[in-house]
Amino acid sequence: MAKVYFVPLPEGSSVESISRAAGRLFDHVVEAEGIVLEKEIPLKVHCGEAGNRTFIPAGCYDGVIDRLEAQGIASCFIETSVLYGGKRGDRESHTKLAASHGFTRLPFVIADGEHGEDSCDVTIPGKHFKHCHLGKAFADHPQLLVMSHFKGHALAGFGGSIKQLGMGFASKGGKMAMHLGVKPRIRAWKCKKCGMCLARCRAGAITLSPKPSIDREKCLGCGACYSACRNHAVSILTWGGLLNALFKGRFFREKLVEYALAAHTGRRNIYFVFALNITRGCDCEPVPMFKVLKDIGVFVSTDPVAADAAAFDAAVKRGKRFRGGEQLDYAEKIGLGSRKYELVELPCDA
Ligand code: SF4
Ligand code: SF4
Repeated sequence: MAKVYFVPLPEGSSVESISRAAGRLFDHVVEAEGIVLEKEIPLKVHCGEAGNRTFIPAGCYDGVIDRLEAQGIASCFIETSVLYGGKRGDRESHTKLAASHGFTRLPFVIADGEHGEDSCDVTIPGKHFKHCHLGKAFADHPQLLVMSHFKGHALAGFGGSIKQLGMGFASKGGKMAMHLGVKPRIRAWKCKKCGMCLARCRAGAITLSPKPSIDREKCLGCGACYSACRNHAVSILTWGGLLNALFKGRFFREKLVEYALAAHTGRRNIYFVFALNITRGCDCEPVPMFKVLKDIGVFVSTDPVAADAAAFDAAVKRGKRFRGGEQLDYAEKIGLGSRKYELVELPCDA
């Protein structure tokens, strides 16, 4: 059975207390599980959308980074850009936003390139996917510290390690495949023929003349054109895709879990779940949000399913059952990890 190590934290603990708890948990999990650390270990993080106030602050990772530095282990923050534009939609604006949110202690690497065009394929035996598209830079790292914020999420129900692995490691093409599973099209009436998408397309799938269009046979579904178009002329919406997204959340969650399997398999990651600032919506939402539950603490495991299950169950115990619990069952079914776990509580020194 997987072990999950846990430090409880009082409501509203300081960033320093959270950082100390995470550092102690890192020491503990490495020793208790006999983990051999790589010479370079990135921290997979989410820097929070512009306007969001409840993402996990960068300083909470200091305790862990101190340990890596003390052992001469190189590191960076690593992330992928989002599908839908905004301040995290491409490398330039995303790295600027990360810096403005305090993610300055380590280099901030965008794993899927400037506009999501850098991806690598991972093969899995999934029901929905046989090939998953992940950020290319992840291929260089057999071990990461996956830092997740436990909170609600509109489609996934709740977000933790599985969400961070599944959506957070996916390149734009992977995100498109999970959300809607379609290739983009150009809405000719909105297109200004500026050529930005053409310059980004590595598949030579775009034609602008006489009429803007995308050759679906050539298109790789990487999403770079969607990200590059400032005129909202590239669309990924279809009625079938929309219905799937709106009414079939279960399929979305299964797809997310399959992507998480692709991101986890072959790696010796350590999963941190920060059950703090627990909101109904996720850190991608560009607005301040209210907390729906008091702070719980930090969970750590080498098993992403066990880490999420421990946070999910702790929320249930405190009276909040998020939707999306079937993420955990499907994850266990396809071999991502264990829904059952042994909780090892360390004292809080906050
Ligand atoms: S980037 Fe947008 S507006 Fe420019 S050519 Fe491509 S589809 Fe048209
Ligand atoms: S047309 Fe297809 S391959 Fe080309 S940039 Fe757009 S999504 Fe990527």
